[in-house]
Amino acid sequence: MDREPRAAIIYTRMSLDKSGEGQGVERQETECRALCKRLGWDVVAVHEDNDISAISGKARPGWQATLQALSGGEANALVGWAPDRFMRRPRDLEDLLDIIEGRGVQVATVTAGAYDLSTPGGRLFARTMTAFARMETDQKSERQKAQERQRAYAGVRRQSGARPFGWLPDRVNIDPVEGPALRQAILDVTHGKSLRSLIAEWNADPAMRPSRGGEWHYSTIRELLQRPANAGLSVYQGEVVPNVVGDWLPIVTLAEHEAICAVLRNPARRLNASSKKKYFLAGVARCGVCDAPMNRASVNIRGKYRAVYRCRSGANHGIRSAVPIDEAVVEHVLDRLSKPDAADLFRPRTKSATRSALAEIERTRARLTEVEKDYAEGTITGAQFKATSAALAERLSTAQAALAIENQPSMPESLRKVNPAKGEAVWASLSVPDKSSVADALLSVTIYPTSDPEFGSLPYGCLLEWK
Ligand SMILES: [Zn+2]
Repeated sequence: MDREPRAAIIYTRMSLDKSGEGQGVERQETECRALCKRLGWDVVAVHEDNDISAISGKARPGWQATLQALSGGEANALVGWAPDRFMRRPRDLEDLLDIIEGRGVQVATVTAGAYDLSTPGGRLFARTMTAFARMETDQKSERQKAQERQRAYAGVRRQSGARPFGWLPDRVNIDPVEGPALRQAILDVTHGKSLRSLIAEWNADPAMRPSRGGEWHYSTIRELLQRPANAGLSVYQGEVVPNVVGDWLPIVTLAEHEAICAVLRNPARRLNASSKKKYFLAGVARCGVCDAPMNRASVNIRGKYRAVYRCRSGANHGIRSAVPIDEAVVEHVLDRLSKPDAADLFRPRTKSATRSALAEIERTRARLTEVEKDYAEGTITGAQFKATSAALAERLSTAQAALAIENQPSMPESLRKVNPAKGEAVWASLSVPDKSSVADALLSVTIYPTSDPEFGSLPYGCLLEWK
């Protein structure tokens, strides 16, 4: 290292990486100035980038200015805290080498000493340092992953990000308004309340705003209701960590959590919400011969096109004019809607099968907890524990499947308050898919061919039965 006076640029960078100590920009500059003094170099400029991790690839204006000054000959030495302050990526070093090639620029760092990039040895040293810096960055993300994993497996609540809805800002204790409301919503939806009405209610209530702001949507409400943390479950990389109890207070029991998940994962619910029924009774009416759903089609009968219902199976199970059947069904539905108890038909009700599935989930959950306790206390062997918990897991999934089947998609909200005077108006306001759902909920519609000995002679071949 020569001792001739040099015009030095000090480059400092504050990294988000907090693994190093005492690397604040001011401290870096002070140490760099001290180094320049020892080396007999004049400081001609100080460039700095703040709070930018070089690896993120964001622009570094200070670094760009440094390279410009070196390539323009305004300076012939570069001083920094450590090699990784200049260059995190091998690419950064190559940029620097390109610029100072042949200019005899010297580089000195507080932590790694001075090296002359104009010599092969100096360049090798710099490349090695860059490789180490790169390795350190990789290790940093490994370290973060490891910390995240450790946190999840210890059941410690994550403190970053928005406050989870339902808890106080300490993220451990339950918010006195949101917590009970969330639990009630989970129970209500499990027992048949629609997401649509829950979303409408919460969006109308300023106390129920999402923690991140904005409004509730299907996707966010579904996610909220099924969030494993509600039941005190810890999650790592999208998976629930087994046998870990979170250090925060749960809003629902494990059984209640499993019940809502079973209900919301029910494929029939999704299918029904998204299926666009174009025609009133298509898929609702059934074939009297084979019980397949009937399709609506337009066929040419004696030179005139007519809407008909015909069997979806493709077999010739007769065709029937659609319009009179539609009219008969509407007449029956309106008649039913004008009865004083009509609103009761559409009130969410817990079916007895839903109740027994929920009770079974509770029971099985409690039994699983007992078995785990027995195993922990050494009352049962590992083999017994394995066999018993496998059997209980089987029981649990059977109960969940039963719950999913029982919990059918619910009715349009307007029907929940329907009264005899309003029946017709409410009906007229419904969309075709909603009309289909209502007809399907109230009536079974079976269409027979004229050849059917028993029902073929019914008006339009259509048998209507109240469900
Ligand atoms: Zn058929």
